[in-house]
Amino acid sequence: MPAHFDLLIRHGTCVLPWSVEATDVGVRNGRIAALGVAADATADATIDASGLHVLPGLIDPHVHLRDPGDKAVESIPTGTRAAVLGGLAAVFDMPNTSPSIVDAERLAWKQNYVERESWCDIGLYIGGTKQNIPELAKLELGRGVCGIKIFAGSSTGDLLVEDDEHLERVMRSGRRRIAYHSEDEYRLQERRPLFKSGDPHRRHMEWRDEETAFLGTRRLMALARATGRPAHILHVSTAEELDYLKDFRELATCEVLLNHLTQVAPDCYDTLKGFGVMNPPIRGPRHLEAAWRAINDGTVDTVGSDHAPHARDKKLLPWPDCPAGLTGVQTIGPLMLNHVNAGRLSLSRMVDLMCAGPARVYGVVGKGRLAAGYDADFTLVDMQRHRRIEESWIVSPCGWTPFAGMDVTGWPVAVVVRGRTVMREDEVLGSPIGRLVRFA
Ligand SMILES: [Zn+2]
Repeated sequence: MPAHFDLLIRHGTCVLPWSVEATDVGVRNGRIAALGVAADATADATIDASGLHVLPGLIDPHVHLRDPGDKAVESIPTGTRAAVLGGLAAVFDMPNTSPSIVDAERLAWKQNYVERESWCDIGLYIGGTKQNIPELAKLELGRGVCGIKIFAGSSTGDLLVEDDEHLERVMRSGRRRIAYHSEDEYRLQERRPLFKSGDPHRRHMEWRDEETAFLGTRRLMALARATGRPAHILHVSTAEELDYLKDFRELATCEVLLNHLTQVAPDCYDTLKGFGVMNPPIRGPRHLEAAWRAINDGTVDTVGSDHAPHARDKKLLPWPDCPAGLTGVQTIGPLMLNHVNAGRLSLSRMVDLMCAGPARVYGVVGKGRLAAGYDADFTLVDMQRHRRIEESWIVSPCGWTPFAGMDVTGWPVAVVVRGRTVMREDEVLGSPIGRLVRFA
C-alpha cells in the first residue's frame, strides 16, 4: 500500500544539513516523516515546489514586537504576520516592552497571549534587572523561554544592568546562555555631553563609538570567564569585537545583524536620517567588511533583524531625540537571499545562520534542520525572483522600512509551520497557529 502523508512537498531542492539535493518531503502530524518519498505516495495536500528551494523554517532570534506597548507601532499579531510574509517560521521576542517581561506573572500572561495571537512559532526572552536576579534561574526554565536578555548598555525601555557586581550576580544565577546587549553604559553617559540636539545623525556612531561596544564586550567576557557562564553577544558591530571573540569560543557565541551586513555609514545617515539610527550604530566600511569575513570564517553563529519599530513621527525628530531602532522582521529573509545571490555567502551558510545557528545557540528542540522527526517548518524560496521592497508591502503598523526602494533577487514564496501553510505568495493563510518554541 502506498504511503500516505498529511502534506507532501514535491519537486523542490532541499537544503539538508549535509547537502543540497532534489528530494521530496513527507509530513505527518506536524513533523517531517520522510525525506525521499516514493512516486506513488499520496497526501491530503501537496505543494509543488518545482523551481523552488526548500529551507528549514527560517528563525529570526532577535525581534522587538512591542507588545504590550503601542499597537499603532507594532504588536504580536502584526509583527508575526510581517514575519511570515518575510519568510520566517519562528521569531524570538525581546522583553523590553511596556511593561517589560521580567517576572512570572508577566511571563504567564505573554505565554498565554502569544499562543492565541501569533502567526508563527515564538520564543520569549526574559529581561534581567537588578531586582529580579534571584528569580532568573527559575524564569529561564519557563515554557517557551529562549533565554535571559541583559541590557548592559541602555537602549529602548528601562531594562539595564550596567555594573560588574550585578552582572556577575546575574551570571551566577542560572545556567543557560545569556543574551547581551553589549555597550559600556559608563562610556555612553560620559560621552553624551559631547553632542547636542540637532547634530547630524551620523554623530550617532561617534557617540556610541567602537570603544563603547568593544569595552562592553571585554567586560562581559572577563565576567563570563570568571563565572563560566555561557554568553551570546547580540548585534556585534565592530571588527575589534569579532576578532576578540574568536578567543572565547568555549563560552561565547555571537550574532551579527542584517543591517550591519547591508548598510554602511556615513551614507545611511545622510540618506535615511532618523530611519538609519539604531543601537549599536551602523558603522563604516571597515566594520561591514569585517562582519562579512566573520560570516565566512564561521565566527558568527546567528543573524538577526533586531526588528525594533518606532512611530514615523518619532523617527523624524532631530538626533538624538529620534529613538533608536529599525523595522526588519519582514525584510531579513529577502535581503539575506539577495546576499546569497550576490555571492556573499552560500544558501547553506544562510540556513546555518538562520536555522541551525539559533537552534544551537538557544537550545531549540525540534527545529533548525530538515531531518526526520523535526518540526515540519519550511521556508520555500524562489532564488530567481526579482522584487523591489516597497513600504506598501510592510504590514507593521508603523509602516516604514529603511530598505524601501531596494531591488532584490530571491524571495520567500511560502512558509509552512508544523505542517500548516501559513503564507503563500504574499497571502497570510488560516488563523494564528503559532506555538511557543520548545527549548532544552
Ligand atoms: Zn534588539
